[in-house]
Amino acid sequence: MYKNKEVPDPISFWKKYSLLNSSKFFEKGSKDEKTYCRFCKKSPGETTFNEITHLLPELLGRNQIYTSQECDKCNHVFSDYESHLATFVRPFLTMLGIQGKRGVPIFQSRSDGRNQDLVTKVLYSEGKRSVFAGKDSDVKIDYDNHQLSILFRHPPFVPLKIYKALVKIGMSLMPVEFDVYCNHIYKWLLSAEDNIDFINYGFMTTLNGVYWREPGADLYQANHIYTKKEAFPEYTLVLRFANQVFQIYLPFTDLRKSGHKPHSTLMIELLPAVVYNIFKSNQQTYTIKPFEFGRDYKVLQNRRLDFSFGGIEYPLP
Ligand SMILES: [Zn+2]
Repeated sequence: MYKNKEVPDPISFWKKYSLLNSSKFFEKGSKDEKTYCRFCKKSPGETTFNEITHLLPELLGRNQIYTSQECDKCNHVFSDYESHLATFVRPFLTMLGIQGKRGVPIFQSRSDGRNQDLVTKVLYSEGKRSVFAGKDSDVKIDYDNHQLSILFRHPPFVPLKIYKALVKIGMSLMPVEFDVYCNHIYKWLLSAEDNIDFINYGFMTTLNGVYWREPGADLYQANHIYTKKEAFPEYTLVLRFANQVFQIYLPFTDLRKSGHKPHSTLMIELLPAVVYNIFKSNQQTYTIKPFEFGRDYKVLQNRRLDFSFGGIEYPLP
């Protein structure tokens, strides 16, 4: 964190963290034989390994990056978490036309009561978006400046399940030799009851003028967990999809606990998302939005997004 009036060091993140693993290092389409599940620790005699399991869920964009150490049963648990992530990120995927497993997803707002007429729908087809406004206040059009503003009233989602979906990606990138310090994290991922220490916030940055059809993820490791006065979370995951960069911290491992210094200040270093479009766009400002993960219950959230448009077509009456 930076104190007021202090100029942030643009490369501070890379001084504190090093890349440990990345989806870029996976061979696309390659499927290794499944010999055990790193999440539940079961082997082929104890559970089944029939399903194709992705490192990055296809809801974030079609891809062919597979994991080999994930059984069908665990995959089903993670699918539930991913459905909450899908609800949370759908506006970006629909508006950018990102193809998921079953084509570009349709955004449907929650109904606010049982009246289906009040549901706002956004569809994408061949580069055009069709917006059916359930409530007048959901859509604002500024014709003079070619600006469209849509209020996406998300259906309910559970923030903690979104965090779990992201931690699962991070743990799939964790080198197996580190598993010995992470068993409580795997257990927590599969359990509804377990609690764990983690940093309650993720950080999202929206990029303009650049987006990814296929998602990607990088796992970074802190060079030093403790310095004289400061402490750094050991692992941070940077996820890229659509026009979003989403950074989270993985739960603390046993290795970190063993060297704990009670009076150190926990420091949060953010990867500056500007690196992804420094040569591709003239975007001047980047707003990093914190998102709170700690809530283990359904929340209702609205997200207003603004767009520039080239033209509008109206349906014939
Ligand atoms: Zn399993």
